[in-house]
Parts: sequence; structure tokens; C-alpha cells
Amino acid sequence: MQVQGKTVVVTGGGRGIGREMAKAFAARGANLALFDLNQADLEAASVECRALGVQARGYVANVTQEAAVSAAMDAVVNDFGGIDVLVNNAGIVKDSLLVKVKDGAVVGKMTLEQWQAVIDINLTGVFLCAREAAERMIRRGQGGVLINISSISRYGNAGQSNYVAAKAGVAAMAETWAKELARYQIRTGTIAPGYTRTDILSAMRPEILDKLTAQIPLRRLGDVAEIASAALFIVENDFFTGRCIDVDGGMRL
Ligand code: NDP
Repeated sequence: MQVQGKTVVVTGGGRGIGREMAKAFAARGANLALFDLNQADLEAASVECRALGVQARGYVANVTQEAAVSAAMDAVVNDFGGIDVLVNNAGIVKDSLLVKVKDGAVVGKMTLEQWQAVIDINLTGVFLCAREAAERMIRRGQGGVLINISSISRYGNAGQSNYVAAKAGVAAMAETWAKELARYQIRTGTIAPGYTRTDILSAMRPEILDKLTAQIPLRRLGDVAEIASAALFIVENDFFTGRCIDVDGGMRL
């Protein structure tokens, strides 16, 4: 698919990887519809996209809320005429060991709130946004591309039962949608970033981050632009569907 002139929806587009992806698509001439929780972040990201000569609008929409997602997708169709690409990027972490033991005694465990919050945003939100975008793509009859953002953690990572379940799930859903939606000229793909410099890593203690960086074969964190270029590849390569691109500096957890 040619990116020029297409409409790209990016969830979590107000900050981090999402904002950088939006700018990468804008630099290729795509128009941007950004979903996020924070109006100020949305406005700042939209201004940066518009500075690249395209249309860009922010939509305050919580990806966990079915009605809000549906209304935001309708607004995009109304404002831009249709949806060509969805990047399912919004995500959070709430890390905890399944069961934490200190000096032989159980001192904590992952709470149901920690589990559910991550599943709601990182898995259910991806399902809802993809379903609503795919429905509108099918009705329009011009195909499209659905991209999920997974993680290096999808292979299993201590302290992240909730995140790992969601990130393995979104990669599996992209495989599933590739099979279900090819007949409508809708392709899919997953990007699994390794540790990438954004605010999400601020939840991690600096000494742990240093230790992790030392284990990355390329010995550095990823840059948001390096993740964004994988999204452009998925959109532009018409023989790509269903698979996952790891952009992780060679690291395996
Ligand atoms: P950031 O925390 O920098 O950005 C995430 C964005 O998602 C924020 O703008 C946030 O909004 C938004 N968001 C959170 N919850 C919702 C919601 N319910 N509805 C709509 N928007 C929401 O994260 P990154 O840019 O680092 O991460 C982007 C994606 O990449 C995530 O899916 C993450 O899991 C994945 N990833 C990141 C890695 C990294 O090392 N950075 C590594 C592997 C994967 P607000 O700020 O207003 O809450």
C-alpha cells in the first residue's frame, strides 16, 4: 500500500512510540487520526504531524471503552472519509511477580487489579480497535492494514504475567485476522519492540535498566524511529501479513 494520502489511526499516539509512528507516516504524506487519553499530548502530536504538511486530528478515546472506540472510529470516517491503517499501540505496564517471596515468606502477589488493567488496555483495547476499524474497512471496500504492537516480553518475562499474556495475545490475534480478513484485502502485522527509550521505561529502576541494556547484543536501547520504520514496512509491503517483526537489538529474554 502506498502511504501517501492514506488515513492512519494510531492509538496511544500522543506520546512515545505512537507519536513517532504518527510522524513517520506524516513524513510519507499520510493523514493522521490519533487516539489517546490526554488532550494536551494529542494536540502536541497533531501539531508535529501537521508541520509535515498533512492533516492530523486528535481524538480523546479510551481504548478499553467499546462505545468510545466506536464513536472515535465513526468520527475518523466522518472527518477523513475512511480508515486505511490502524496501529494498535496504546499500552501500559503494571509489573509484579506472580507470587513474591522474601526470606522464605510470601510477601505479595500480582493483584487482580494489576492483571485486569493491563489486559483491559493491552489486549481488550487492541481487540476493540481492530474490530471497529476492520468493520469500517470492510464496509468501505478498499482494504486496509491492521498493526499490533507486541513486545520482546511475549516469549515470557519474570514479573510481567499480565503484560506477557497480552503481548502474546496480540501477536496471535494478528495471525488470526490475517486469515479471516485477507478476503477483504485487509493485511495485518505485529511489531515486537525490544527495550525502547520512552516514558514507559520510567517505571523501571535505573540499575535494572542498565543491567538489561548490558544484555542487548547491540548494547543500547532502541530508538522510537527504529520501531516506526517497521510499521512503514508492514504497510508498504503488500506480500506481508500475519507475521511479527522483532526490533530488539538482537535480544531474547
Ligand atoms: P508510552 O507510555 O510512552 O505511551 C503510551 C501511550 O498510550 C500514552 O500516550 C498513553 O496515554 C496511551 N494510553 C495508555 N492507556 C490508554 C488507553 N486506555 N486509551 C488510549 N490511550 C492510552 O509507551 P511506549 O510508547 O513506550 O509504548 C507504546 C507501545 O509499545 C505499548 O503497547 C508498549 O507496550 C509497547 N512496547 C514498548 C516498549 C518500550 O521499551 N518502550 C517495548 C516493547 C513494547 P497517557 O499518557 O495519557 O496515559
